[in-house]
Amino acid sequence: MENVNDDGWMDAAAYDDELPFGNFNDNEKIEAPVNDDVVGVCPCCGTNVVERDMAYFCDNMDCSFAIWKDNKFFQAIGKEMTREIAEDLLTGGTVKLMGCKSRKTGKTFNCYVDITYDDEGRVQYEIRFPERKHRGE
Ligand SMILES: [Zn+2]
Repeated sequence: MENVNDDGWMDAAAYDDELPFGNFNDNEKIEAPVNDDVVGVCPCCGTNVVERDMAYFCDNMDCSFAIWKDNKFFQAIGKEMTREIAEDLLTGGTVKLMGCKSRKTGKTFNCYVDITYDDEGRVQYEIRFPERKHRGE
């Protein structure tokens, strides 16, 4: 029991082989800059889209693609531009929204929103309604 001190604690040195840390692979390089929070890939130019305070911006300085968080289109249907929505839009060009509420009529509805962009990377949103399945003929 030579590793036990008077107060009952084991000498720290006795734990050396058991410590869970200390086996990090120092050669492993982190590829992406850690301060850039990548949300997806820009549909215009293929550069990473990163989250910033105001919007999800294309990281390419020459590209003006941006999905603004303060988003009038989404506000008009009672939705916030969340990171999940931005990810869906960047991944598939569309997002399914449940429980939208029209600011004009107060009606609630489900819809898809498709994202498109013009030559200058200006984003446009378009509502699309799922086709209703007809029961019988
Ligand atoms: Zn871009």
